[in-house]
Amino acid sequence: MPTARTKLVAGNWKMHGNLAANQALLQDILSGLDACRTEVAVCVPFPYLAQAQMLLTGTQVAWGAQTVSEHAQGAYTGETAAAMLADFGCRYVLVGHSERRALYGESDAAVAAKFAAALQAGLTPVLCVGETLAEREAGATGAVVIRQLEAVIASSGVQALARAVVAYEPVWAIGTGKTATPQQAQDVHALIRGRVAADDAKVAEELQMLYGGSVKPGNAAELFAMPDIDGGLIGGAALVAVDFLAICAAA
Ligand code: PGA
Repeated sequence: MPTARTKLVAGNWKMHGNLAANQALLQDILSGLDACRTEVAVCVPFPYLAQAQMLLTGTQVAWGAQTVSEHAQGAYTGETAAAMLADFGCRYVLVGHSERRALYGESDAAVAAKFAAALQAGLTPVLCVGETLAEREAGATGAVVIRQLEAVIASSGVQALARAVVAYEPVWAIGTGKTATPQQAQDVHALIRGRVAADDAKVAEELQMLYGGSVKPGNAAELFAMPDIDGGLIGGAALVAVDFLAICAAA
């Protein structure tokens, strides 16, 4: 099915990197991207946003952060506001990554508030949804991802998704080397797009939806070929320039 949606490959560096390694990685990515027409982004740790801004301004690679406060400002020690990310030129911010949900107790409501805060500051939130292995085995995959999505629709409205990206990341596939099959991923993407279409067909048709979870050079092309998969959110392979570039080339 032909679609007007452009593909996006976004790296999620998680808590990796240092000034020297980041510089080498970004320079290698920039010098290898010539032939690639896809959208490309890197989501880096907060301290390296200035470095990303310095090295990536004026290039085809956008940058972003990995989480954001739900508050605009105030006495929230250790937190980072969306407007601060905008100050450093971020286009994207991940919200609701499963590691944030599982390790830092982010609830659906907190994720929805972060999503709203990102939009308010003019950032593009990348809303991460996905089920655990236990949830999949219990047949709850659809219910879980729809619940996570609906928390955002309830608080920001379906139209807000026109300014956002959704990333489906099955928790059991993240960092495990186990990838969802293209059909497993497609099924969930189609379910999510269908749920959005029930409220607004145009927003659904235009919604950029990424798959994440052990995307590698060897499996990227078959995942990205599925009709409802519009690119990838890449963890481990985003730290190796040659792998990240191969994934960009597959998009
Ligand atoms: P992975 O991570 O590619 O290393 O599985 C993906 C993610 O957590 O976004």
